[in-house]
Amino acid sequence: TMYKMDTVPCWIEITSCRGLIFDKIIAKEIPSTIVYEDDKVLAFRDINPQAPVHILVIPKIRDGLTQLGKAEPRHAEVLGHLLFAAKLVAEKEGIVDGFRVVINNGPEACQSVYHLHLHVLGGRQLKWPPG
Ligand code: 5GP
Repeated sequence: TMYKMDTVPCWIEITSCRGLIFDKIIAKEIPSTIVYEDDKVLAFRDINPQAPVHILVIPKIRDGLTQLGKAEPRHAEVLGHLLFAAKLVAEKEGIVDGFRVVINNGPEACQSVYHLHLHVLGGRQLKWPPG
């Protein structure tokens, strides 16, 4: 089910209890195109790409990290690992000279899935400021 919140200019998906949809991708119960994987993180193509390259990088274990704003000191290592994985993905995709890493945090930033994820975007001229 998709519905539009009155207060924010974005569509919020409420299927699969938010967040949990990425657990299904990690478990490979939902198919995805994986572009990078190691013991801690998984990177796969966004189902609704906003650029020629649009990849999501997520921790394999959520451990309370539904969004960046919930990060605790214990998450610091995986946060660094995610950012480094984003760079590896950009290299792999051939966009390392021009790409953007985005984290949407909370409703006002249009976060729709409550399992922390980095968006890696590139393959076209990106604009600034973002919408
Ligand atoms: P957010 O809006 O929370 O920052 O980003 C969530 C992203 O997850 C969106 O860009 C959306 O297209 C993507 N997404 C949601 N469900 C799926 C799915 O089942 N598979 C894939 N590959 N991407 C998804």
